[in-house]
Amino acid sequence: MSGTMYHVSDRRIQTWSLEAHLVDHCNLRCANCCTLSPFLPKKAMPVEILARDLERAARALRPHVFKLTGGEPLLHPDIVSCLELAKAAAISEAIQVTTNGFLLRRAPPAFWELIDRLTLSLYSSAPLPSREVEWIRKTCEESRVLLTIKDVERFAVMDVRTRWKSEAERAALYDACWLKVRCHLLYEGFFYKCTRPPHLAQIRRDEGGAADDGVDLEGPDLAGRILSYLEDPEPLGTCWDCCGASGGFEEHVQSAR
Ligand code: SF4
Ligand code: SF4
Repeated sequence: MSGTMYHVSDRRIQTWSLEAHLVDHCNLRCANCCTLSPFLPKKAMPVEILARDLERAARALRPHVFKLTGGEPLLHPDIVSCLELAKAAAISEAIQVTTNGFLLRRAPPAFWELIDRLTLSLYSSAPLPSREVEWIRKTCEESRVLLTIKDVERFAVMDVRTRWKSEAERAALYDACWLKVRCHLLYEGFFYKCTRPPHLAQIRRDEGGAADDGVDLEGPDLAGRILSYLEDPEPLGTCWDCCGASGGFEEHVQSAR
């Protein structure tokens, strides 16, 4: 492909989406959770870190939608402040929360005023009672929030049992992986092409974290550095330990504690 696959306008790169993980942990334990929440310790994103990252990222990126997710984002002790920051940063026209729905009743009125979209994932292995789904539908309607309901009966397998054995395998996997375009992540001072690097680094206990697989939000020419990174055809180091979109599917189940 010649030229860039990303459009740059007003020195900001237009992208499909950008997400922030408000917490690493979750109230469910889905096997094959793509953010590895069942394996991660309880951790909430400090509001001041999110504010700093958003302020920097908004100078270089213009995602179609900004997603607050996790883990389960409703577990964040101050989700309203996180939403206020996302609005104030004006990083995107659409602010979305992605949730399993179990904790939505505890969301204060300001939550419903601040979000534009809600994506509700309904898992076959942990069914949300239908009265709750109806309440969520009604509340979204009253709050003029665009609701998307995803029925999930199977999950993509992303974790590898053993590392890929050859460069060719890793390169083919990376080429076929759509997540590198659709699942960009803002996490603790870095921008990543996908959600896997910081969480896998944590599980592997890599001392340097996932810095080599992301872009430091601090420093000059952030838009230029992110654009070069997004267009780099080289796979990430993390791709050694990930199936991307090539791992097939398994039935959705909750894993044992
Ligand atoms: S609800 Fe979502 S974040 Fe939580 S374990 Fe399941 S897939 Fe992971
Ligand atoms: S680590 Fe590599 S294969 Fe896995 S989701 Fe990210 S880009 Fe795709």
